[in-house]
Amino acid sequence: MAKKIVAGNWKMNKNLQEGIELAKELNEALTADKPNCGVIICTPFIHLAKVSEIINHNVINLGAENCADKEVGAFTGEVSAEMVKSTGAEYVILGHSERREYYNETPEILKEKVDIALANGLQVIFCIGESLAQREANEQNAVVKAELEGSVFHLTEEQFKNIVIAYEPIWAIGTGKTATAEQAEEIHAYIRSVVAEKYGKAVADETSILYGGSCKASNAPELFAKPNIDGGLIGGASLKTADFKGIIDAWKK
Ligand code: PEP
Repeated sequence: MAKKIVAGNWKMNKNLQEGIELAKELNEALTADKPNCGVIICTPFIHLAKVSEIINHNVINLGAENCADKEVGAFTGEVSAEMVKSTGAEYVILGHSERREYYNETPEILKEKVDIALANGLQVIFCIGESLAQREANEQNAVVKAELEGSVFHLTEEQFKNIVIAYEPIWAIGTGKTATAEQAEEIHAYIRSVVAEKYGKAVADETSILYGGSCKASNAPELFAKPNIDGGLIGGASLKTADFKGIIDAWKK
């Protein structure tokens, strides 16, 4: 059985003080009422070290939203996987559609980032998902398969066990338009079958496949009830403790 996970992606929101406040609040809420799933918060780089000190890592894990495609050196403005790891973070999100689209992150660049993140002991939340035009052309399966082949299917089986997949249809991110539970389940089952073809059924069954795209407390129970949906990657609704906890609590229903 794959681990159930609810992960938050703060994106470029919250200044340092606001981020600390949110982390404290969430830590208190989840210490008082323990979650039934793994919980990860992925924050901007500037929050990582401080948030790492605040949270109980037995209840909440910490992740970055990106890392460099180079190990170390003269790359002004970049933050390496090793630096991320040194803050106490355990995860990094790679391949988010916003990074692919606005920062031209290609499958080759993402492959480098994945390799460096894993080499530095980080687990990777690897995002895949089709655009609206691709969905309308019924190309979603080919798109997600190519994204996996392009950046993570070169990994050994042992390495691949450190990958969490997040299926995020681009047309559902931040739009309020959620994939139906049936649509999400269909493609999650397909993604698991592709992982099984590559790494075998046992590895595929252990791979957490999260859904992302306008997931909220009201639709999480229906999505999480599906057999191939192992949780969510949450953007907007991870920015308020009550909203995020509402999604985490979907695993108690
Ligand atoms: C995301 O960008 O990872 C995401 C799922 O965003 P939202 O929940 O806001 O749609």
